[in-house]
Amino acid sequence: MTSPPALHAHGLHKRYGHTKALNGVDITLLPGQFHVLLGPNGAGKSTLLQLLTGLFNPDQGQIEVCGVSMAQRPAQALARLGVVFQQSALDLDLSVRANLLFHTDLHGLPRREAMARIESLLPTLGLSDQLSATVRTLSGGNRRKVELVRALLHRPAVLLMDEATVGLDPASRQQLLHTVHRLCREQGTAVLWATHLLEEAEEADHLLLLARGEVCYAGTVANFVASHDGADFRQVAMGVLGV
Ligand code: ADP
Repeated sequence: MTSPPALHAHGLHKRYGHTKALNGVDITLLPGQFHVLLGPNGAGKSTLLQLLTGLFNPDQGQIEVCGVSMAQRPAQALARLGVVFQQSALDLDLSVRANLLFHTDLHGLPRREAMARIESLLPTLGLSDQLSATVRTLSGGNRRKVELVRALLHRPAVLLMDEATVGLDPASRQQLLHTVHRLCREQGTAVLWATHLLEEAEEADHLLLLARGEVCYAGTVANFVASHDGADFRQVAMGVLGV
């Protein structure tokens, strides 16, 4: 018997008044694969991530994380997700350690195990000497990395990143992107990276193009380019997305 995908959502619809934010979206995330959700502002990316993280219920459609229904068993489904939101959720006046332990306490992880995981993850992100630093003193790039560590500490099967590079300089953006690619490969985590930046999509294992609340392409970047006679990825994607 094959195991279920890390995340599977089917037929998602969401309206805000007369606005159809999502209109029948299907999405499947596989372990160890880096999926990019690319769409212009207003395409529905944040709405989709809000549904996948259980913040709102879809008007229609189902979401399962590792085969666990978000509607029927939300706590078990959410326990398998790690999320980095666009807006920072760190307490700036607390240390990196205190911020991370707050999160592991919420997940019921014993302190000794939590510290072991923190001490093994920080060096992989180049943050080993920042454990006692107050978050306010860290650069924007390092704050994002702390959020990434926090999202990974409970060892989620799925990592959702919502426009995680917004506000970062180009070097920090590249570094964060490469770090998440590496973690995805090494740890077998299914990653969904939502962005409006074409350059963040080119290295994706799997590309989802979202426009006006609908998925207009799902597949590899290579197949996308091949189906447009090998034309330049950025130009074709801009055309398909209508930007
Ligand atoms: P993206 O993240 O791709 O920029 P959003 O999911 O934020 O897209 O928005 C999708 C559509 O839904 C847009 O037309 C947006 O104006 C609308 N929308 C999003 N959130 C709300 C809300 N809380 N109330 C009303 N309309 C909303």
